[in-house]
Amino acid sequence: MPLYEYACHECGEVFEKLVSMSKADAPQVCPACGGGQSRRKLSSFAVSGGGRSSGGSMPAPVSSPFT
Ligand SMILES: [Zn+2]
Repeated sequence: MPLYEYACHECGEVFEKLVSMSKADAPQVCPACGGGQSRRKLSSFAVSGGGRSSGGSMPAPVSSPFT
């Protein structure tokens, strides 16, 4: 079961909850205020890369093929 992150609309609490994928979009009960108005945030693992801007290729092998 994947771990999802929710943000409460009522108190602003951000909490994580293990929810089955079929219920991932359903609002979860906030553990801080007990409110049922929460929205699923985008999981952090969905974001990949982005930090590397140097699109350099692999460095050439230093060793000579003639050994
Ligand atoms: Zn709350």
